[in-house]
Amino acid sequence: MATSERLDIQAMARDFAASELRPRASEWDARRALDDDVFAKLVELGFLGMLVPEEFGGLGFDFATYVAVLEELAWGDAAVALSVAIHNGPVATLLVRHGSEEQKRRWLPKLAAGEVLGAFALSEPGAGSDPAGLSTKARRDGAGWRIDGEKRWVTNGARAGLVVLFAGTGEGAVGAFLVTPDAEGYRVGKREQTLGLRASGTVSVELQGVAVGGDAVVGDEREGLHYAMEALDVGRVGTAALAVGIGRAAMEHAATYALGREQFGQPIARFGAIQEKLARMAERLAAGRALTLDAAAALGAATRGEKQARTGLDGVTARAAIAMLSASDAATASADEAVQVFGGYGYMRHYPVEKLLRDAKGTEIYGGTSEIMRHVIARELLRDMGDA
Ligand SMILES: Cc1cc2nc3c(=O)[nH]c(=O)nc-3n(C[C@H](O)[C@H](O)[C@H](O)COP(=O)(O)OP(=O)(O)OC[C@H]3O[C@@H](n4cnc5c(N)ncnc54)[C@H](O)[C@@H]3O)c2cc1C
Repeated sequence: MATSERLDIQAMARDFAASELRPRASEWDARRALDDDVFAKLVELGFLGMLVPEEFGGLGFDFATYVAVLEELAWGDAAVALSVAIHNGPVATLLVRHGSEEQKRRWLPKLAAGEVLGAFALSEPGAGSDPAGLSTKARRDGAGWRIDGEKRWVTNGARAGLVVLFAGTGEGAVGAFLVTPDAEGYRVGKREQTLGLRASGTVSVELQGVAVGGDAVVGDEREGLHYAMEALDVGRVGTAALAVGIGRAAMEHAATYALGREQFGQPIARFGAIQEKLARMAERLAAGRALTLDAAAALGAATRGEKQARTGLDGVTARAAIAMLSASDAATASADEAVQVFGGYGYMRHYPVEKLLRDAKGTEIYGGTSEIMRHVIARELLRDMGDA
């Protein structure tokens, strides 16, 4: 996409975030729910089909444009951006890459048009960082399957119409299944009382003999974990973009407040200690954004099938992990410093920065914790150095 076109789309996302998200973010956070009309507006803008190819009714954005939009949405409200990121990222891209023609024709136009919201159900009460330890099981039942188990922290789960759900298919293998929440035996459990990202509708799900047809399996029924890891690369780049948006909001709030707040007869923005905090935020966030764009470029090259390293530090997985680690760290540190710049007011619910700190913390956990990002990066580096 031409740079001018990307900048126009980014400006559109920024206007939308400023007029529709930011003024309502605090109310949604307190209510722990988003209004329906926000999804209608996201549909109007096409933002629920950003990574769906045009032939299936989506916008077919490149990853650089996608992360630019996510950053703006997160600047407005991270819960909305998280919802959009899960729907477009791991859910739509997994179907685009591995779905059959029939699955794509059935689901991609619906996802792009926002007729259904997508969710990604990998984590379980006993399996988070180590998804190979899943205990949800799918067993053959005639031409189809029956799924039993429990999923935890399913973002969008409260309103999803399509869930990409992972379950063991035997002998240590995992399959990816397309499940609709109206299936018998599928029960949406309690809405999690989260620290931040409160309006994104994260729920647990119980699966009791959920019956799905043979056509619900995506790709090879034994390759689901591999698909999940690939989808998480896309998810991590989205999380990095979200983190930059949250951190930028914190930095801007802190700078504006510092210019207006006077102590010792002058704006606190004149104090070196405050300027140092602001400069540090700007530096860390710029690094996070640059690494996010680098990872977006790697995802783009991989999607176009260009020859490039798949593993090692030049591979998509390491670059996505580096971007997420750097950006989420920058977001949490910036939001933390923004609370400090606001002083006592920063600690109050009435001011915007405490929410940003709570939201930022989430980007260090979901889709893989910072510790797991470091583990992935070190593993890829060691692989470069000859480790098998
Ligand atoms: C807001 C939010 C939204 C989420 N949305 C989704 C979703 O839509 N779909 C979904 O499937 N999941 C989702 N999750 C779950 C999330 O991906 C997991 O919480 C995360 O992967 C960590 O798993 P865990 O909570 O089981 O922690 P654990 O794996 O139990 O980890 C606990 C601690 O041990 C550390 N640790 C674990 N293994 C290692 C290791 N090898 N080396 C060093 N340290 C280690 C971790 O870093 C962490 O600090 C969401 C979580 C949150 C908070």
